[in-house]
Amino acid sequence: MQTAVVGFPRIGTLRELKFTLEKYFRNEISQEELEQKAAELRRIHWQTQQQAGIDYIPSGDFSYYDNVLDAAFLFNIVPERYKKLNRSPLDTYLAMARGYQGESGDVRALAMKKWFNTNYHYIVPEVEDQTEIKLTGDRLFKLAAEASALGIKTKSVIVGPFTLFSLCRFTGSRTAESFVDEFIAAYRELVEKAGTCGIETLQFDEPSLVQDLSADQIALFRKIYTALLGAAKNTKIFLQTYFGDVRDIYPELIKLPFAGIGLDFIEGRQTLSLIEKYGFPQDQILFAGLVNGKNIWRNNYSRTLEVLKKLAAKGINTVVSTSCSLLHVPYTVKHETRLGAEYLKHLAFAEEKLVELADLGRLASLDAFENDPAFAANSRLFTEERCAANPAVASRMASVTADDYVRKPSREERRKIQKEKFGLPLFPTTTIGSFPQTKEIKSVRAEYRAGRMTTEDYETFIREKIAECIKWQEEHGLDVLVHGEYERNDMVEYFGESLGGFIFTEKAWVQSYGTRCVKPPVIWGDVYRIRPITVEWSKFAQSLTSKYVKGMLTGPVTILNWSFPREDISIRESISQIALAIRDEVLDLEAAGIKIIQIDEAALREKLPLRKSDWNSEYLDFAIPAFRLTHSGVKADTQIHTHMCYSEFTDIIPAIDNMDADVITFEASRSDLQILDSLRDSNFETEVGPGVYDIHSPRIPSVEEIVTACRKMLSRIPADRLWINPDCGLKTRGTPETEASLINLVAAAKELRAG
Ligand code: GLN
Ligand code: ZN
Repeated sequence: MQTAVVGFPRIGTLRELKFTLEKYFRNEISQEELEQKAAELRRIHWQTQQQAGIDYIPSGDFSYYDNVLDAAFLFNIVPERYKKLNRSPLDTYLAMARGYQGESGDVRALAMKKWFNTNYHYIVPEVEDQTEIKLTGDRLFKLAAEASALGIKTKSVIVGPFTLFSLCRFTGSRTAESFVDEFIAAYRELVEKAGTCGIETLQFDEPSLVQDLSADQIALFRKIYTALLGAAKNTKIFLQTYFGDVRDIYPELIKLPFAGIGLDFIEGRQTLSLIEKYGFPQDQILFAGLVNGKNIWRNNYSRTLEVLKKLAAKGINTVVSTSCSLLHVPYTVKHETRLGAEYLKHLAFAEEKLVELADLGRLASLDAFENDPAFAANSRLFTEERCAANPAVASRMASVTADDYVRKPSREERRKIQKEKFGLPLFPTTTIGSFPQTKEIKSVRAEYRAGRMTTEDYETFIREKIAECIKWQEEHGLDVLVHGEYERNDMVEYFGESLGGFIFTEKAWVQSYGTRCVKPPVIWGDVYRIRPITVEWSKFAQSLTSKYVKGMLTGPVTILNWSFPREDISIRESISQIALAIRDEVLDLEAAGIKIIQIDEAALREKLPLRKSDWNSEYLDFAIPAFRLTHSGVKADTQIHTHMCYSEFTDIIPAIDNMDADVITFEASRSDLQILDSLRDSNFETEVGPGVYDIHSPRIPSVEEIVTACRKMLSRIPADRLWINPDCGLKTRGTPETEASLINLVAAAKELRAG
């Protein structure tokens, strides 16, 4: 059986592309040098796949920044303000991705959004009224030719028209619909050119198909592809879907004459049953996405082969494939030196997944594979115990009762008690937790981590920083203080290090956006708290002042969403285990005299299922209770805060209110404050701090500007429920702009109080 890869990571095994690009950004290397390095990386990635024996190797999956932006750029979806800079094509492209400030002008970057249910961010293309959508370059053909010159046949991969169209923002007065024919014509041109340029196969990625689709959208899809398939002469067209199943459109899809269709068998819960119900065209290839492109565990060959056998029994021409692009997993376990073989043998990053594909392709063609050494070795991974269950965790989980998910008394009663106890002024001012992580702090931490500084010296240093931070906040009149989070680099890793059940990698980077990569920890086993994590720091900070200092924790949903989750137990179970660990920390903070505790759920929305119909049963029904489990044990006069990044939660407001926090701060400063209308309309009970200025930019907001923003908020939020705060943590900002901004924030609150 043949094998296929949907897409391969491009940043480089050791993040070579990141570092090269950053040199280019700093003007340290020329465009030629950048291109040379990029070509070298492409060659390595293609050859790696070829040597692993992959039959369908992608080209066009490479990108300097983002594949959605690549497609937009190829079709001339470039807003005028970037064209006007008159920069080279590459620099225009990069200006769209990162903004540009220099002699040619000053433009901000295009917006960035999360790519479906991943932690990868794409650039949101903007179509203006005057945008002339047309094929402008030969990027795709060049890349295919480059591979071909190396003796490697590839399929050309590009974001499909349906998905690109769905992701674009139409910023002028023309409607999106009025652009449909132009999209079709442009892609048609691509298909026709592909035929004349010797492109044998073209893969259109259409992840938008795994969402709930309306009849209009289905009709649109049919219209687009009827036109494209009609234009394909010498080129085979593959349709690739991922991140779920295509239940709304499957019966329609299989009526269209694609040469092949890629379906996700990992996240697509209904994929197999759709095939069983509606069949699969005998003259088409099924790319069966059975090797998980999003998680890092070894494939279970026995289970995969069972599915492949079922498909073969139906006479389907099957190619075994990844479930989505391998962009979402790290490169290779080869560079992991700290984790022992007993761990590594269970992990498969991109390169190891290539071996799995080759194994599976080979095994699927055998009549009997039970005695095959690769199969036998793989089976052992799943029959032998990987990690022993922790009986203490199990019994604790079993003892959780329905009452543990309910905080008492009711929020309104707590409100009265807390108002009286805390005596905070109207419009209390606060920050989200972190203060600027200066070069000094980063380098001291690096010294400490490298073993060149004693724990004692390090802790003394952190204490000094906390003391400075508290003093500054007191002197400048903030009402609820924070300790500054100087002791942590990352809001998940820091907690993971004190939780049993987590393991950490050294080089397992995954691209998050542009040149930015993250290194998520792996949830290896049952999770429990080994030791108190933040208690000493919070206690120390509180001892310095008579004002309240917030305890600062990361919530269970965010910890899980920013880690690689287990597959042998459910997400629901893992989140509950983490929730109990955080609950221990909450109760210890309370016992240590901390009266206000913030439990951040920055990533709460991230794993919200792509289909609305799955939101509750597949996620919110356990994610929200897990949050409540962390804080339901505290007294009525302990105030619980939470914080969420992104304000895109208009559609889950009741769920957010159900977290039953006393106060929520979030990021609404950049949105049009539309969320505030929704909060009012749904009688949101939690007190709110919608974020009065945008911390993602180095600008200093004026007092007037903050007052204006607050007045807008006050037209929708009762005065006694409004908090005044920046919209996210300050760790990425510089000190001067942070101080100036907070001084203005406090002044604005005073002005509001004066009426
Ligand atoms: N408390 C964290 C901070 O202030 C929250 C970070 C976040 O929302 N991403 O940095
Ligand atoms: Zn935030």
